[in-house]
Amino acid sequence: MLQKTSHFMRQANLIDGEWVQADSGAVIDVINPATGLKIGTVPKAGKAETRRAIEAADAAFKSFRKTSALERSKMLRKLHDAIMDNQDALAELLTMEQGKSLAEAKGEVGASAAYVLWFAEEARRTYGDVVPSPWADRRVIVTKEPVGVIAAITPWNFPSSMLARKIAPAIAAGCTAVVKPASQTPYSGLAWGALCEEVGIPKGVVNIVTGSAGEIGDEICSNPLVKKITFTGSTEVGKILIEKSASTVKKVSMELGGNAPFLIFDDADIDRAVEGAIVAKYRNSGQTCVCTNRFFVQSGIYDRFVEKFADASKKLKVGPGLEDGTQQGPLIDDKAVEKVEEFISDAQAKGGKVVTGGKRHELGGSFFQPTVISGATPDMKFMKEEIFGPVAPVFRFETEEEAVALANDTEFGLACYFYTGDLGRAFRVMEGLKYGMVGINEGLITTPEAPFGGVKESGIGREGGHQGIEDYLDTKYVCIGGL
Ligand code: ADP
Repeated sequence: MLQKTSHFMRQANLIDGEWVQADSGAVIDVINPATGLKIGTVPKAGKAETRRAIEAADAAFKSFRKTSALERSKMLRKLHDAIMDNQDALAELLTMEQGKSLAEAKGEVGASAAYVLWFAEEARRTYGDVVPSPWADRRVIVTKEPVGVIAAITPWNFPSSMLARKIAPAIAAGCTAVVKPASQTPYSGLAWGALCEEVGIPKGVVNIVTGSAGEIGDEICSNPLVKKITFTGSTEVGKILIEKSASTVKKVSMELGGNAPFLIFDDADIDRAVEGAIVAKYRNSGQTCVCTNRFFVQSGIYDRFVEKFADASKKLKVGPGLEDGTQQGPLIDDKAVEKVEEFISDAQAKGGKVVTGGKRHELGGSFFQPTVISGATPDMKFMKEEIFGPVAPVFRFETEEEAVALANDTEFGLACYFYTGDLGRAFRVMEGLKYGMVGINEGLITTPEAPFGGVKESGIGREGGHQGIEDYLDTKYVCIGGL
């Protein structure tokens, strides 16, 4: 198969099966965060191009909705195979634009393929109901139908897999899509267009536009042809999209910010907890919405945990993602580094102690040292705000009730984690935590088979699991009379 990074690096938008430039010819530069050098450009599209993409999706929907579930399942199986056949090339492209290590990028591309396969299977299981009728001469049937054109807006931290969770259930359900990847990492998004073409997904089913977030977002929200918006990104932007799409009463799915707590009780297996803490904190250099934002450690093991965790953090190999053995790539840009520095100086000013790291990495650019801060207190900024970087604040607690209360003291409710050896406590704490996802004695829990999503201001809807296709379907009730 193809396996050529350059084949997937499309410097154009895909609208109605054509690779095109912006009407104005304007472009956005795409930068490799590991080198600071330009990789290439993508079109800076706006309202008009987005409208054409929506119209193309709407036209394609007329025939795509009539394909059978089995046909769509087969398309998705082919798409899965094409992704896996080209895993290395897609991973290299991802690392080039996003910065994460090649190993993590391969993992992400593999996860994309896994979501596609999952929804290839789910495509055939969108069952309806035949309900016992209350009338002797009527029958009651409930069916599921694709909602129509969906629009997907995705962030830069998982530029491939965040689209997998949206494009795959859309195709599975029989919807057509307009996709806007993040401007920092557009190539992994545009690569979906090349892949869909290769496996023969009909033109207009998946359209991809890059460019002005505000203009594209406004057209998506106000255009009545779009029936659903699915967004992964910040709570701030999610709220804007919900508000703007109210005028056309669209369905919305929102995967928004998190502020994940990670609780470690005195009775936990401390080495397992450290292992879990490392993945739950430093994956993608701390730039995921399910990354731990706050560690809460019971006082009996606090000092031992901090020491072991800091040692393990120090050992992480920071470097360019494409270099062998790299575990921590650069942050996405300099703004991200400045934000991380702000969190650290705020904590230091309020009595926090940097146990390891705390500074920009000697490699320069946007590389940053894995950082552990002990003596964290609730008045520090990271208690409420998402860090999105390799900084691990460690709070101390005494009782289970106190830990759960601290963990819940946030408007977010995406992922949370806790470590304990006590079964009763495992249930009590799990039931007490107001989060959409809970890892008990596990720090890495995402999988296509399970519903990913948050409560409170972390979002609406679920991606993955059998739930992941529901938001792409409308329920239709049919009453048949005169029997
Ligand atoms: P992050 O902080 O992870 O960059 P954002 O929420 O800012 O998250 O961005 C996520 C996605 O939302 C990106 O594709 C970005 O371009 C897009 N976006 C940002 N602002 C808007 C907006 N006003 N309308 C629509 N999309 C937007």
